[in-house]
Amino acid sequence: MDQSSNRLSLPSSPREFGFFVDGEWRGGREFFDRASPGHGAVVTRIPRCTNKDLEDAVAAARTAFEDRRWSGLSGGERAGVLLRAAEGLRRRRDEIAYWETLENGKPISQARGEIDHSIACFEMGAGAARLLHGDSFNSLGDNLFGMVLREPIGVVGLITPWNFPFLILCERVPFILASGCTIVAKPSEVTSATTLILAEVLAEAGLPAGVYNVVTGSGRTIGQAMTEHPDIDMLSFTGSTAVGRSCVRASADSNFKKLGLELGGKNPMIVFADADLDEAADGVAFGIGFNTGQCCVSGSRLMVERSIAEEFEARLADKMARIRVGDPLDERTQVGAITTEAQNTTILDYIARGQAEGARVVTGGTPLDFGGGQYIAPTLFAGVTRGMAIAQDEIFGPVLSSMPFDTMEEAIRLANDTVYGLSASVWTKNLDKALAVTRRVRAGRFWVNTMMAGGPEMPLGGFKQSGWGREAGMYGVEEYTQIKSVHIELGKRTPWIE
Ligand code: NAP
Repeated sequence: MDQSSNRLSLPSSPREFGFFVDGEWRGGREFFDRASPGHGAVVTRIPRCTNKDLEDAVAAARTAFEDRRWSGLSGGERAGVLLRAAEGLRRRRDEIAYWETLENGKPISQARGEIDHSIACFEMGAGAARLLHGDSFNSLGDNLFGMVLREPIGVVGLITPWNFPFLILCERVPFILASGCTIVAKPSEVTSATTLILAEVLAEAGLPAGVYNVVTGSGRTIGQAMTEHPDIDMLSFTGSTAVGRSCVRASADSNFKKLGLELGGKNPMIVFADADLDEAADGVAFGIGFNTGQCCVSGSRLMVERSIAEEFEARLADKMARIRVGDPLDERTQVGAITTEAQNTTILDYIARGQAEGARVVTGGTPLDFGGGQYIAPTLFAGVTRGMAIAQDEIFGPVLSSMPFDTMEEAIRLANDTVYGLSASVWTKNLDKALAVTRRVRAGRFWVNTMMAGGPEMPLGGFKQSGWGREAGMYGVEEYTQIKSVHIELGKRTPWIE
């Protein structure tokens, strides 16, 4: 670290990775060079796997599943591996956070917090491995006893996006492993490093070979091949709604693999006049600023009661203008770089479109120049109407659209006026209003007087076109199991043939 500036340094040369199959590292033949979005310097070299590499990974995961080297262990033994993995992550926290920041562009302090949350996910997964159980029916009469067994679903393909490469991975891997399944993971090509480092941590924790495999490469090639693969039993996909749709098609056209889909959002934050307005403005600024608005659960639509709308927008704009945007390697930075050049262009295009459609920029609206990389000022649009693109499309950037409302009914109607249903928040001191809104806004995650709080106990997932199924917590583990009903005849059988 450069002590004078409180800033970590870039690596002296790019770190080259292999990919991980059947407990072994393999070297790539072709590589993708990843440049740090905060600086533009190449930081990692990631293998471009071939279809043959994917075949090897699926075959390894299949063998590891069928011979029961993992699913045949007791829940307690699986928990032991997951707890040792949590310890391994604790030891390597700073290293993992560093590579996450370099590839993703998020602030280093935030990346460390995400590793801490990931450790908690492994600890929760350990508990879940011990707690997973079925059911019994002692109510079928004296001659019949019923058991419901939970069995691991098999080989799970895991496709993850670039916005929280390690956190999203760890909101899934420990729960998949707790259930007894085996994994073939494919991270986004632009943020693969930490998914690969996890392979090292898991191997050191004693995870048997073949249980966690990682293939790297682009979504169009390796990702698409995974969605079509007949020997993957379940696919957990986190990413855009468009690719989620293609996963559904590919599943139908291949083996009807079960799908877990965590997709996009256009999430409302509803602020009533009776809220603590300073806290609400802080929470709303966090809701759109955190991770440069590149969160599936970012609050990207603000609905604010008309009587306070102007005052609230001014207070919010003041806070947003004071967010410390800058070098992700600087300890003081709160908001870092936009992760890809393509995403940077998309966000700037939406800002231009919002202005062209008649919305008013209250703060931000421009790129920021830090001498390298790509940055955008947190942006607040006022005067947004429901037909505008910035009111409907998921921008996936630090761009907030504000719309006033007069009544609670109107706020609920506006909040539900989207194809998505991932998350929502409501800000009020009135419990009746808070609960009425929580009950009637269709979203998988809800926050009352806070934003993006949570823990690995709480399930994640969306309503409507935000996805299928739930990840994390006991709900998440159960997604990776299937249910078998067992009927046991007791005593003498009543003959069918006299
Ligand atoms: P994306 O383009 O859909 O990519 C997500 C993942 O899918 C990446 O690993 C990508 O690989 C891969 N992929 C791309 N095309 C594919 C294909 N045809 N078949 C299979 N896999 C394919 O999404 P993104 O732009 O990375 O991420 C942003 C989106 O993810 C947003 O819509 C956001 O809301 C959503 N998201 C949702 C959640 C949630 O929990 N609901 C969490 C985070 C993000 P490459 O990157 O290597 O091409």
